[in-house]
Amino acid sequence: MSEFKPLLTSGLIPGTAVSERPRLLVVDDQPVNIQALYQVFAKDSEVFMATNGQQAIDVCRQKRPDLILLDVLMPDMDGIEVCKILKADTETQNIPIIFVTSQDSPEEETRGLEVGAVDFITKPVNPAVVRARVNTHLTLKMQSDALRALASIDGLTRIPNRRFFDERLNAEWRACRRAESSLSLIMVDVDHFKKYNDHYGHLEGDNCLKRVANSLAEGNWRGRDLAARYGGEEFVCLMPDTDLAGAMSKAESLRLQVESLAMPHAESPDAACVTISVGLATIVPSEGKLETLLLGAADEQLYKAKQAGRNCVMGVALV
Ligand code: GH3
Ligand code: MG
Ligand code: MG
Repeated sequence: MSEFKPLLTSGLIPGTAVSERPRLLVVDDQPVNIQALYQVFAKDSEVFMATNGQQAIDVCRQKRPDLILLDVLMPDMDGIEVCKILKADTETQNIPIIFVTSQDSPEEETRGLEVGAVDFITKPVNPAVVRARVNTHLTLKMQSDALRALASIDGLTRIPNRRFFDERLNAEWRACRRAESSLSLIMVDVDHFKKYNDHYGHLEGDNCLKRVANSLAEGNWRGRDLAARYGGEEFVCLMPDTDLAGAMSKAESLRLQVESLAMPHAESPDAACVTISVGLATIVPSEGKLETLLLGAADEQLYKAKQAGRNCVMGVALV
């Protein structure tokens, strides 16, 4: 029997963890308006507050609220502008925004909906109405989070899939470029897996992939790290803020972890058990370079690891 355990835990898909209490962000330049909404929601929700547009954007990026109640008229940056910025950022674009406004003209409502708001509420707010609308949109948000999480999970191994990995790679590429820090990418390929399938059968092959995935995903990762199934018998790991030395040592421990599963592989010419070859590359992302450079370099190192006799790690730092 496989020792595989499901890995769909909250936090595995960042941004979709379902907290016990909904997290609301209330944005208004008038503290008295914030106070009114705070009193409606403080009992059942965690309420964050911001009194200007920039603060609202900062709180969103740090706290990832489930919903935003956003004032339209504010000095400096108005609500429409804040909404546009949040909707343009993949990290914040899925947070529903309800505009709270004292001018309920059809033109303004249309403008708000066009930039991506889900609803409009007029001031002064009626507690029962605002609570009902917020509840509706929170429910929709939880449902779409759950669907997104499902669409991001590989059906066989229950770890994140390539689609999710590609999204994270893109986001971490930009984050590491802003921070001028190293981004490492590890590519893993099961050795002589075709022979494994041929000898033990496809179902046992599937079980083997589940156990390898489980072992990789369990590997004591840091908060922003990610292990995913890239396709077939290939896996990828992403390690932001990690240099070549750090990634090499992590890759070596992954290799040892899989080896220590000691799954017999009678047909492998190189080892008595299932092993992996690992290629990795590290880069400090900069203007004009693309993620494919990092992927291609890790793939090249993986090829070298295969050439070097498999069950080993090869890595390179790109400059
Ligand atoms: P190498 O050591 O060079 O990587 O050799 P290999 O045999 O592992 O590589 P190859 O690419 O020739 O074969 C990969 C095999 O992985 C072939 C394919 O049938 C099998 N495979 C891909 N996806 C799955 C899957 O989901 N389940 C099972 N059981 N097998 C799979
Ligand atoms: Mg392969
Ligand atoms: Mg292989």
